[in-house]
Amino acid sequence: MPFIGIKFAAKLEKENPMAIIITDECINCGACEPECPNTAIYEGADDWRYADGTDLSGKVVLPNGKAVDANETNEPISDEIYFIVADKCTECKGFHDEPQCAAVCPVDCCIPDEDNVESEETLLAKQAFMHNK
Ligand code: SF4
Ligand code: SF4
Repeated sequence: MPFIGIKFAAKLEKENPMAIIITDECINCGACEPECPNTAIYEGADDWRYADGTDLSGKVVLPNGKAVDANETNEPISDEIYFIVADKCTECKGFHDEPQCAAVCPVDCCIPDEDNVESEETLLAKQAFMHNK
């Protein structure tokens, strides 16, 4: 099993599931990006789309009620470091038992996003929505 920082594992156990966020301790190694099953991770300064790595296309209403064009390019969330699109992050629910970005990050800077607390059911519904299940 990949290593997850003890503090992070304890936090996950203690709290509700939530999306993951990358802190400014990121060293831009790029290890997390290819591990994300939802293509929710982007390199700093990269544009991103809901359609990237998902089955979403055209105008859609996300499970959280937000109406978006999945094919539209969006501005980078960070110009400096890798970032996670919270709307696309399911904490890897539906694919893996644990967040893959956190498992591979060499500096433990992929941590639960306190501003995006979601139930396991919500995260699974988000995953099913994005992958046409
Ligand atoms: S927790 Fe999983 S879905 Fe969320 S950004 Fe990390 S690898 Fe992607
Ligand atoms: S694995 Fe960690 S340090 Fe490397 S790019 Fe991702 S968040 Fe940054």
